[in-house]
Amino acid sequence: MAKCPLCGKPLDWGELVEQMLSLENAEETLRDREKFLKAIEEFAFKCPHCGEEFYGRYLPREEAEKVFELLNEFKGSVDWENKRIRLRLNSLLALDKMLENWDKKMKG
Ligand SMILES: [Zn+2]
Repeated sequence: MAKCPLCGKPLDWGELVEQMLSLENAEETLRDREKFLKAIEEFAFKCPHCGEEFYGRYLPREEAEKVFELLNEFKGSVDWENKRIRLRLNSLLALDKMLENWDKKMKG
């Protein structure tokens, strides 16, 4: 799971993406896979635990890709008026990981 590269505390993807919603072209960015991943890499996120800033390139790319899919898969995943993410991204990522491992086990 995503962690702050400075203090090591776990980060909530919903909170992280909410920080990006103030980007000028956020709506467009969230719909375009390449733009979204690039925007994450270059975005200076603020850790809610230690208050330090770090670039998104330190976040696991695999999770960022999954976050993009989840945000686009579910209608109304973003509450643009209140700049909030409605999905529990961390729970969904954990569930996805669990199913993936299970799938591997069944095939293995
Ligand atoms: Zn931190």
